[in-house]
Amino acid sequence: MAKQLDELLHHDESDDCPVCRAQNFVDLALVPAVAAWELNNELPRFSLALHGAASLLGIMLEEGVARDELDKALSELLDDVERQIAEQETMGGPPQGNA
Ligand SMILES: [Zn+2]
Repeated sequence: MAKQLDELLHHDESDDCPVCRAQNFVDLALVPAVAAWELNNELPRFSLALHGAASLLGIMLEEGVARDELDKALSELLDDVERQIAEQETMGGPPQGNA
């Protein structure tokens, strides 16, 4: 099972890398949809994001992924996300119009 999770974390060199495809789908479809659902249902910001993520990860636990493997994978992914945020900030941050 650890090997299977590991495959879900690492990019292959192909043009249609499954990791990139999953990330693109989340960024383009899931992130905006979750933000809109929170707003439209007057739910606190991040409530659906947090509980949605936990429920999805819960399915993995139900299907036999070990908790410590999941913790490790998630920690690795969050490290990557933090690195990307730091990179974006050094490159001037998100577009804020012309100054
Ligand atoms: Zn990739």
